[in-house]
Amino acid sequence: MSLSEIVEQVHREMADHIGAGKVADYIPALAEIDPRKFGLAVVTCDGDTASAGDADEPFSIQSVSKVFTLTLALEKAGVALWERVGREPTGSAFNSIVQLEHEAGIPRNPLINAGAIVVTDELLADHTPEQTVEDIVAFLRTRADDPSVGIDLEVAWSEGDTGDRNASLAHFMRSFGNLKGRVEDVLHVYFRQCAIAMSCRQLARAGLYLAHAGTDPMTGERVISEVRTRRINAIMMSCGHYDASGEFAFQVGLPGKSGVGGGILAIAPRQAAIAVWSPGLNERGNSLVGTLALERLGALTGWSVF
Ligand code: GLN
Repeated sequence: MSLSEIVEQVHREMADHIGAGKVADYIPALAEIDPRKFGLAVVTCDGDTASAGDADEPFSIQSVSKVFTLTLALEKAGVALWERVGREPTGSAFNSIVQLEHEAGIPRNPLINAGAIVVTDELLADHTPEQTVEDIVAFLRTRADDPSVGIDLEVAWSEGDTGDRNASLAHFMRSFGNLKGRVEDVLHVYFRQCAIAMSCRQLARAGLYLAHAGTDPMTGERVISEVRTRRINAIMMSCGHYDASGEFAFQVGLPGKSGVGGGILAIAPRQAAIAVWSPGLNERGNSLVGTLALERLGALTGWSVF
């Protein structure tokens, strides 16, 4: 089967499941999304693209943004970043606060909310919040090769209105000295990075450097070193789906990062970047149908890191 036939088949197989799961409603602007949306896009390292369903419709990438801010922060801070954030799975929810007290304000990994807030704080150092947001959006526009990528400000404001848990995480870490910037500034940036809207096609294109040892196979540009690319993939595999990361590795077998908007970016090293979107979430806050679709895509393509 060709790649487009595989992608079409996965889309067809999902027909009975589409609409399953529960749309995130703790961010009011996300609660309004049609749960029957489904998009899938694959961009290969050879430059092939295949897509199905609503693959061109932008959605809120939410925590998928954490992979891109981690890339930028590693480039900016280097290994010093690991003094402020760990790289162990949590076994806890994405917005959990419990481990932070025992671990003196050092979050377990950069892909949970607390860890991503530290990563954002690192990007903010020596920059204004506005400049930091611009830099993150510019990075995604370049990586997606599409200047139309932008922020859904309604989602950003909605997150700000209901962001008490994230504010608590930030204040708590600041009390341990693990946040340099002002909490308002860090959250300003964090809520906007989460509210970036991208389509599956743009997201898969943007993540392609993670499948290609840190270079963009379309342009030849080096985005990040090969070693760092491996490490980001390792963290995606062990931590990218919070307390369901083991289950995702078991079911799909690829590094992946989910967001509560229902998107998942998965990486098949040396093969392709894959983005899927289905807003209904499972009880761990990861896209239910998106995970199923990736499992089927992996089975039909044979892509797995194992
Ligand atoms: N913006 C969301 C939050 O901070 C991101 C969480 C997620 O996608 N899992 O709660």
